[in-house]
Amino acid sequence: MIKKILIANRGEIACRVIKTAKLMGIKTVAVYSDADKDALHVSAADEAVYIGASAASESYLVMDKILAAIKETGADAVHPGYGFLSENKEFALKLQDMGVAFIGPNVRAIEAMGDKIASKNLAIEAGVSCVPGHMGLIEDADEAVKIANKVGYPVMIKASAGGGGKGMRVAYTDEEAREGFQSSKNEAKSSFGDDRIFIEKFIESPRHIEIQVLGDKHGNIIYLGERECSIQRRNQKVIEEAPSPFLDEATRAKMGAEAVALSAIVDYDSAGTVEFIVDKDMNFYFLEMNTRLQVEHPVTELITGVDLVEQMIRVADGEKLKIKQKDVKLNGWAIESRIYAEDPYRNFLPSIGRLVRYRPPAEGKTAEGAIVRNDTGVYEGGEISMFYDPMIAKLCTWGEDRGIAVKAMQKALDTFEIKGVGHNIPFLSAVMQCDRFERGDISTNYIAEEYPDGFEGVALNPGHTRAIACVCTLMAQKLAERAASGSGILTHHDRAIPTDVRVQVGERHYEIKTERTNGNSLVTSASLSTGDSDKAAIELEISTAWAPGQSLVTSLIDNDPFVFAATPVPEGYRVGYRGSDVEVKVRTPAQAKLATLMPEKIVADTSNLLLCPMPGVIVSILVAEGDEVQDGQALAVVEAMKMENTLRAEKKSVISKINAGAGDNLAVDEVIMEFAGAS
Ligand code: ADP
Ligand code: ADP
Ligand code: MG
Repeated sequence: MIKKILIANRGEIACRVIKTAKLMGIKTVAVYSDADKDALHVSAADEAVYIGASAASESYLVMDKILAAIKETGADAVHPGYGFLSENKEFALKLQDMGVAFIGPNVRAIEAMGDKIASKNLAIEAGVSCVPGHMGLIEDADEAVKIANKVGYPVMIKASAGGGGKGMRVAYTDEEAREGFQSSKNEAKSSFGDDRIFIEKFIESPRHIEIQVLGDKHGNIIYLGERECSIQRRNQKVIEEAPSPFLDEATRAKMGAEAVALSAIVDYDSAGTVEFIVDKDMNFYFLEMNTRLQVEHPVTELITGVDLVEQMIRVADGEKLKIKQKDVKLNGWAIESRIYAEDPYRNFLPSIGRLVRYRPPAEGKTAEGAIVRNDTGVYEGGEISMFYDPMIAKLCTWGEDRGIAVKAMQKALDTFEIKGVGHNIPFLSAVMQCDRFERGDISTNYIAEEYPDGFEGVALNPGHTRAIACVCTLMAQKLAERAASGSGILTHHDRAIPTDVRVQVGERHYEIKTERTNGNSLVTSASLSTGDSDKAAIELEISTAWAPGQSLVTSLIDNDPFVFAATPVPEGYRVGYRGSDVEVKVRTPAQAKLATLMPEKIVADTSNLLLCPMPGVIVSILVAEGDEVQDGQALAVVEAMKMENTLRAEKKSVISKINAGAGDNLAVDEVIMEFAGAS
């Protein structure tokens, strides 16, 4: 029997594994680096061992340090999570030699599936349909062009050792094939220390649909339905769901059977994922197999009721699978939103810093019968560092059908409070309200097609704008009440509670009057904006539990809950609601009159400067002083949180001065270069 599991990972996945181990009565050991000494996974485990400096290459990726921690604590099993050493056959072999159970598949399965070329050849052998292409190594750019022509454009150039969306390029022309071959090769070399490249057909606008498999050491393998992961950015998943809104029962069964056949070839004996892309006509093609627990495994758990980590531990311990294929029933619908520390308004640039506020929605059953689950490895006051993946949490919702799960996700995102670091909740919220997403009409091109110029926020509709204006009026009244009761002077006109105000929300203006009726407020608002279609005065019954200092505003408007986020600014609030972001000003009629006389605040002109958009290291400067650059031309590459970000010119101009060089550590908004003659 496994008695003590060391988790060779960090963050949410370490916490996830610890949770199940605890339920099973198994002791746990965490490992941690300098950056993680106060991390949640450390306090959640029974024991913790320090394994080195913050960079993963000096801690989580160093086998000897993990092996020493195993010896020190007497752990008899290791769960590798995902990433890091999870798909490293050397690591699994070393554990085998030590007589420690690896909570993952056998070494041969890891080896065969870790390589995309080798795994495709096995897939062909197992009768699994693969993306058409050239399943051999490509020597140089000339050969890449030749093969691309044979496969037929467009093609995808890929690293055989690839993972995490890295080392991949699409090519439509010979020139792009030549360039793509070189850049894939470079990226593969630096990311995986292995620059073997192959080429396959690029399937346009496919869906990413993957099958969860589960095997034991006694030859039993089953599949637990599919997950659809088509909402991706840069080939990395952002939103996943189970089941897929696209598959029919027959295709599901066919994909499941092929995934099981492929797994059987390598005697697969743990949880694993067989990834496919699926075209418009429901033809499916094998992409790769991930021989580990997948990031998005919670959606499968929510619709099958199976705890995948528990099953992995049991089969690693030699137990037979108790679940038979016929027992697997898909119940309801589950969605996962990956909440990342990245700023959607700034091209999703990673953000780091202290989580000044971190309040996820309550987990468990909701009033509407949905379920909320939030897997995380952070806490309020903790730090998002530059050393690891910028994921803050995986927020999941379950409902009896897709519509209920989507609605539950909208609400859960509304009440998720994060402050201190940039985050993508406004973006996730925007997707959850998009008709196209609600219809399930998605593909891996979804984000590129829906947000061709990047994410610029969602426009508020007139009803929501008015609702925000009314609730902000009540907030201003509460502030005034507090100020008045503090000083005890209720009659002074500055302290009087304003009941007749002018509210500006973005570009819209309202005249608002309030009256108290048994605890609620009766709010009458009239739109003052010229050209506004809804000019008529409206009466609403509103109450809010908001108190000064809170950043989440919950209210009831004619008995319907309405929730938004608010940060104080002079004369009002900056309000975020479902992907929109507006400034609200609440003024007395006299102040409003004065406000129209105020000169427009002049914003510093930074259009002649290229600013560093996040704290990071300059990888390269791609231009020289005096160069003329075109709109969209790459100027510099900045690395932050393991991602390289290319900064581009926004208009045609001349580089007048360069202030930074490769290797420089820059803070946010530091000037990298200056432009001349920009107009
Ligand atoms: P999934 O399909 O579960 O998202 P990925 O292959 O995209 O699987 O990777 C899962 C996680 O493992 C990623 O979020 C990332 O943190 C990590 N990871 C995988 N491969 C790499 C890599 N080559 N470099 C850095 N991190 C990686
Ligand atoms: P990784 O190991 O980085 O996860 P995958 O081969 O699983 O690499 O591909 C990641 C994503 O890239 C897929 O989910 C899909 O969106 C896209 N992709 C990969 N191969 C193709 C292809 N041949 N045609 C179209 N899209 C592809
Ligand atoms: Mg993949």
